[in-house]
Amino acid sequence: MPAFLLLDSGLPGPAVAVVAGIHGDEGSGPIAARELASAGPPRRGRLLVLAEANPAALAASSRAAPGGRDLNRLFPRTGSGPAEAAPAAGRDPEEARAEALLGVLLGEADLVLDLHEEGGAWDEADLPTLVLTEAAAELALELVEELRDLGMPFDFVRGAPEGSLAGELGGRGRAALVVEAPARLPFEERVRVHLAAVRGALGLLGMR
Ligand SMILES: [Zn+2]
Repeated sequence: MPAFLLLDSGLPGPAVAVVAGIHGDEGSGPIAARELASAGPPRRGRLLVLAEANPAALAASSRAAPGGRDLNRLFPRTGSGPAEAAPAAGRDPEEARAEALLGVLLGEADLVLDLHEEGGAWDEADLPTLVLTEAAAELALELVEELRDLGMPFDFVRGAPEGSLAGELGGRGRAALVVEAPARLPFEERVRVHLAAVRGALGLLGMR
């Protein structure tokens, strides 16, 4: 089972999950997630933090676990059969990890923030990006406005890929935001992008 750190305010409020490290070669998300966790419980509601969603990939600093497939395309698609259909012993470990993670998030989180880096072909004009599901669209628009006022402009797009965590949460009507920090930015800046997005969202939800 994924080892979430639970930071519970003890007061009613939203449950927000921060997930990082699904891709092992995107190290800024896990650093940001640990920093968020070290700040303690939110003002209200509950914050769940998973800084290392894919430990084997992170240990290898590679997108996927050695010999494995991209975890962020293995989340169970809507309409796929129940988990019991496949015998546990024959399960692909990455598929099992994806399924367990999705199960926890569907059960525990009102909003999921998934921290990533977007690499390679970006040029200087490219901005950090929020990829949103329909259920998170209103929050995302407010967040982009607030981040712009703070001097950190973000782009936003709809439609996370099928089989990705946000894509499959969205397919189930759930609220999720992918934070994509441009890989061209210095590492510390990428961490700052993640922290600004998550703290901004928590602020809008009255959690900090
Ligand atoms: Zn990624």
